[in-house]
Amino acid sequence: MTIKLYNTRVREKVEFQPIKADDVRMYVCGPTVYDRAHLGNARPVIVFDVLNRLLRHVYGADAVTYVRNFTDVDDKINARAAESGRSIGEITAETTQWYLEDMAAVGALEPDHMPRATAYIPQMVEMIEGLIAKGHAYVAEGHVLFAVDSWKEGYGALSGRTVDDMIAGARVEVAPYKRNPMDFVLWKPSDEGTPGWDSPWGRGRPGWHIECSAMSKALLGETFDIHGGGNDLMFPHHENEIAQSCCANDTDRMANVWMHNEMLQVEGKKMSKSLGNFFTVRDLLDQGVPGEVIRFVMLSTHYRKPMDWTEKKRVEAEKTLRKWREMTKGVTAGEVDRRVVAALSDDLNTSKAITELHYLAQGLDWEQRDMAALKASLVFLGLLSDDTNLEGQSNQRHDRVDILIEAAMAARWALRAAKQFEQADEIRESLKAAGVAVREAKDSYEYDLTADFDPSKLEGIV
Ligand code: AMP
Ligand code: ZN
Repeated sequence: MTIKLYNTRVREKVEFQPIKADDVRMYVCGPTVYDRAHLGNARPVIVFDVLNRLLRHVYGADAVTYVRNFTDVDDKINARAAESGRSIGEITAETTQWYLEDMAAVGALEPDHMPRATAYIPQMVEMIEGLIAKGHAYVAEGHVLFAVDSWKEGYGALSGRTVDDMIAGARVEVAPYKRNPMDFVLWKPSDEGTPGWDSPWGRGRPGWHIECSAMSKALLGETFDIHGGGNDLMFPHHENEIAQSCCANDTDRMANVWMHNEMLQVEGKKMSKSLGNFFTVRDLLDQGVPGEVIRFVMLSTHYRKPMDWTEKKRVEAEKTLRKWREMTKGVTAGEVDRRVVAALSDDLNTSKAITELHYLAQGLDWEQRDMAALKASLVFLGLLSDDTNLEGQSNQRHDRVDILIEAAMAARWALRAAKQFEQADEIRESLKAAGVAVREAKDSYEYDLTADFDPSKLEGIV
């Protein structure tokens, strides 16, 4: 199976060819840890989680290394500590833990490495020293800056702009000590109340971009396969990462494939606190929206299109997943459907993959239905994982009903297999008396709860 991916670097969809098929390497820019992840932050996590799953499916689980960092040194974190009176360490540790819980709830597998920036300061210092030595960076008023004019041939290539275009279009902070207004900070001085590390340029802290260059090099090497993040990071963050890495490592390429997800909006508007449509992943989970519903809604839009979160989509997703959950209860997962894999292999066409799931569930005719493939494909896409479903209270109630019906049906089928048809039919009658209408196929069943459904009558059936 060949995978095609849209590569921002060359601006087209190209066949993915790993540098080494038994060692596929991917880096994705992670969160700055000072607050709960908002719903938009979950989008890249889910997008690249699907890619991680696909790569593992195609190349083997042991053949893929996925790195996503935690930015735990940043002025936003410092500001949060100052205003709350809490320590930086406390805030970053707590937020990191929240992030892991919330992303697990939306069905994302943990990356193989989740490096924290503060654990890689020596590597950053070393890289900055190298850049200075080669004339790509300079020291000015306690800062170290990357000199974009020292790499005119490469700077701007990812986002397709020249340095002069950028200056014309950007609202950059024009510090007097910058040689070129586009020069960016590699290291800056820290005063007493600000976190800092000793360095050849005095006590200070890194600028934002250098951490990804240092950590990806340490964990994945100088040139790796895929680099991802939201498209708001393309410029300046990714452009700066590339400049730092290529100049420090003397390579002409940091990553072969650059991938960017589009932004998430809410009911057609940019999510913002002032519009009152800003919410975190945790807000939704606390309202009883199961994590897998959040995931399903995200997957319904292709990652390179703006995604609109709407209440209507949430309701639809919840209905669909509930139906598929019921259909696949008690079914042993088979093979992941090849059309689902094919859809994902076409630049992560997750909405097409969902269409394929509908075919498996409904079929154009009865013959096409395949519950074993449906179950396997859902699990492959990170859906139907019990942990995420438990987040929804309504679903917890629902699960108890499921468990009892499943137990009754398992008992019925066991009796039938033992040719004890009378007792087997008694169970079906008891279900009916409890208000559960069961429709049986050869090796699966579906049920509806009728108007006189009485959960208390379910308890005693088996
Ligand atoms: P941050 O913590 O702000 O650096 O963001 C972490 C990740 O979330 C980055 O990959 C961003 O591109 C991504 N991101 C932030 N806002 C949104 C949004 N509204 N929609 C999609 N992705 C976003
Ligand atoms: Zn980064």
